[in-house]
Amino acid sequence: MSRFTLRTAAVSVALLWGSVSLPSWAADTPAAPAYTTKDLNEQLVLATLWMQASGEFKALSYQAFNLAKLRLDMYLAGHPGGKKVAVIVDADETVLDNSAYEAWLVGKDFGYSSKTWDKWMEAAEAKAMPGAVAFLNYVKKRGGEVFYVTNRKEVGKAGTIKNMKALGFPFVDDAHLMLRTDSSNKEPRRQQIAADYDVALLMGDNLNDFSAAFDTKTLAESDAAVESNKARFGAEFIVLPNPTYGDWEGKVYNNNWGASPAEKDQMRKAHLHPWQPAE
Ligand SMILES: [Mg+2]
Repeated sequence: MSRFTLRTAAVSVALLWGSVSLPSWAADTPAAPAYTTKDLNEQLVLATLWMQASGEFKALSYQAFNLAKLRLDMYLAGHPGGKKVAVIVDADETVLDNSAYEAWLVGKDFGYSSKTWDKWMEAAEAKAMPGAVAFLNYVKKRGGEVFYVTNRKEVGKAGTIKNMKALGFPFVDDAHLMLRTDSSNKEPRRQQIAADYDVALLMGDNLNDFSAAFDTKTLAESDAAVESNKARFGAEFIVLPNPTYGDWEGKVYNNNWGASPAEKDQMRKAHLHPWQPAE
């Protein structure tokens, strides 16, 4: 007997007995398959592929570091001396390219977790963002110092140092590698640097790499903060392209990172602004 016939029979029986509840064996109609994390990870494909395969990603990274060099030269030309000059950079997706970790998630039924991220850091296999090593060594050559203000945690310190030293980054030491401590807010670390240095510029892929002005909770607030600080981008703030993750994604979820894969998929699509063609 087919499943359909079984269910039809069960409905007839239920109707006969004046009940709408079905026996459990009969109610077992094929449900739509659940939307899994593996399904959601498929959405990483195009953004990750763009980072790994396109010349445009590489060109944008070079563009950012070429602009940074120009801005540093301008800053130093007008610097009166006194305090030393510093450049503050974020690590991930600013000077380090972790797209291989994202690519590894494709086809898996789990998302980012500190457990797998810790292993990734320990492996020390991140690549340098194009142009990053040359620019940061140029900062050193010009007498400046580089501070890496990152939310990588202490557990990843050894792997991060090994990785960055092997790639040729300067100032990879305890004084300049400022890992996450008790807070992901980078403002106290920026202020700590600014107490002793004149900060020429800041580089990052996430708005909170730049200023407390971007410490926002919603997409609308984030948008407004960018508008009111627009003259600072390309000047003291230089942004690197990261389409794969970021604080913006949490705002898409109303900061509910624990939402199910199906809910995340729905929230992502609800934030799209589709074309409404005329009838
Ligand atoms: Mg980053």
